[in-house]
Amino acid sequence: MQLSISNLSKTYSNGVTALKNVSLHILVGMFGLLGANGAGKSTLMRTIAGLQEADSGTISFNDIDVLKEKNKIRQILGYLPQEYGLYPKVNAETLLDHFARLKGISDAKQRKEIVDALLQRTNLFDHRKKNLGGYSGGMRQRFGIAQALLGSPQLIIVDEPTAGLDPAERNRFYNLLSEIGENIVVILSSHIIEDIQSLCSNMAIISKGEVLLADSPDKAIDSLKSKIWRKVISKEKLTDYKHLKVISSHLFGGKVEIHVFSDSNPDHFESVEPTLDDVYFATTFNK
Ligand code: ADP
Repeated sequence: MQLSISNLSKTYSNGVTALKNVSLHILVGMFGLLGANGAGKSTLMRTIAGLQEADSGTISFNDIDVLKEKNKIRQILGYLPQEYGLYPKVNAETLLDHFARLKGISDAKQRKEIVDALLQRTNLFDHRKKNLGGYSGGMRQRFGIAQALLGSPQLIIVDEPTAGLDPAERNRFYNLLSEIGENIVVILSSHIIEDIQSLCSNMAIISKGEVLLADSPDKAIDSLKSKIWRKVISKEKLTDYKHLKVISSHLFGGKVEIHVFSDSNPDHFESVEPTLDDVYFATTFNK
């Protein structure tokens, strides 16, 4: 199972180039698309889902030409968009049953079995009679996953699924997603580095429509070994380090902790073990 994206480009009619020659090869497992807001993640995901056109390039999933055979891709796709409207006065069981019918599961008994199993799997079974308007953010997202899983998809796309979830809900959601990613291709977009770190075996960093890095988080972190240096300085001193590649600065007990990317110790810095944050900031430095 493989999703291949080759030289995909898209410029909107207002002149914004959202995708620039994007090429990615995505295998079974959880693939993370990491980038700031506006990087082009949703554009890429909507294009894979057949919801909008690219200007050029190709996408294939196994032997399906995704951009041309939209009906075929829809049959094997589960999609959780960044924002979606729910019917607030309908309960989860009824709505899921409705979506299942739309997916073509016409046998009522079979549909009930599938709906019940999905509600169990997403931990919503006890809340199945509750109207969706009364669901918390985490429950809504789990319902979103339940509907995305209808019809046993081979490809699942989840766009910024953890935005707005509290830490406990996020954790529950991570567990659910990681189970799903074992046998199918799951693409998850996020601007939250921790999401990618926790879930993804492979990832890409995207900025202003361009793929800057595609690798496993482990290998990407490994490639920065002995290249990240840390120092705690006072705020006023920050400009003294302008000549260095200061990839990040964080407030630290009223002072500023800076991380510098360099092949050797710049000047009385301390070597630190690189993290995925360092990978992200070193990759997007000056981009
Ligand atoms: P992300 O999902 O990473 O936040 P998007 O794909 O939503 O990024 O947006 C990428 C860029 O394209 C942004 O500059 C955004 O403002 C622009 N954009 C997105 N959708 C449209 C649209 N329908 N028309 C014009 N510009 C758009």
